Amino acid sequence: MNRRKFLATASTASAAFALNGCNEGKHVAIDYSKHPKQTAALKHVNINKNKKTTLKLATSWPAHFPIMGTGVEKFAQRVKDISGGSLEIKIYPKNVLVPALAVFDATSSGEIDAFHSGPYYWKGKNSAFSLFSGIPFGFTAEEINSWMLYGGGLELWREKYAHYNLYPFLGGNTNIQMGGWFRKPIESLADMQGLKMRIPGLGGEVFSKMGVNPILLPAGEIYTSLERGVIDATEWVGPALDIKMGFYKVAPYYYSGWHEPGSILELTFNKHSWSKLGFEQQAMIEVATSEMNANMTYEFHHENIHVLSKLQELNVKLLQFPEDVTNAGKQGLIEVIEEFSKKNRDFAEVYSSIKNHLKLSKNWSDASLRYFLNAR
Ligand code: CA
Repeated sequence: MNRRKFLATASTASAAFALNGCNEGKHVAIDYSKHPKQTAALKHVNINKNKKTTLKLATSWPAHFPIMGTGVEKFAQRVKDISGGSLEIKIYPKNVLVPALAVFDATSSGEIDAFHSGPYYWKGKNSAFSLFSGIPFGFTAEEINSWMLYGGGLELWREKYAHYNLYPFLGGNTNIQMGGWFRKPIESLADMQGLKMRIPGLGGEVFSKMGVNPILLPAGEIYTSLERGVIDATEWVGPALDIKMGFYKVAPYYYSGWHEPGSILELTFNKHSWSKLGFEQQAMIEVATSEMNANMTYEFHHENIHVLSKLQELNVKLLQFPEDVTNAGKQGLIEVIEEFSKKNRDFAEVYSSIKNHLKLSKNWSDASLRYFLNAR
């Protein structure tokens, strides 16, 4: 079933629930003849509150981790509420049931039913997976949601994940991320040479082309490494989460960024666990993930705007990369895309879909949003 048909099916079903609940006594006619497949599906709608389904969902985040972790907790609560308690999604924070970065394999094998994480973590399984998070100089949060939901992105993602017995949903968006915290200011591209920076994913690949030495570190070791000069810089997310890491105390030069302009998070099911759910349970999850995906993006925005002003009070120097650094980043991206496309047909295929949608998005965003932001 393609995305559009699925959405049509899900939204008609949701509308049917709402109408049944709110219009008692009124006759509501729905013309099923136009949607023959939905007639069959709706016959199975039967919320049985006595029969309880419990699913295990592991995350890559610590318990109650702000926005990402709490967003998933709200999602699980919403599913429970909508289902009248008949569908419970039990959340297991990182390392409780499985280690943070083992959630993909644990869901793929069926050890757990679902996970919440980010597709860029699975670059080692298939480099194309990192593209589902977004690319440097790529989509904003709004643009990537548009590509995913209407531009074929989600269909491609589901097709590629099916080889791992997985069924992904959009699980939130960090919104635009900052370029990172530096111990010393960057005055030109020369200052990037040999710089040791914690930066994962495609961003790390691009920074590596610029002469940076990208380093991967567990979250708990970043601050100490930065403080002791083991690394010279780190990116993390944005003001909302960065302030909690304390980076401003040891690396006060905070740069705007282009390496993660709207990173997608994922809520991914084991395909078998997903298909075992009733049609109405699937529809509830579809609706609740959609809410989580939107709200997490807005919550990041809300937290970022308030924390940014706090950081400025703490004497953080808010800066932008010099032009030669940004230009080297753009050139680096071209090289990275070429190399990965040559090595992996999936990467080339997914990138081609991104490229088409991005070209059109840029035209539209330049004509509308860029003009407006400059004018505001
Ligand atoms: Ca990041």
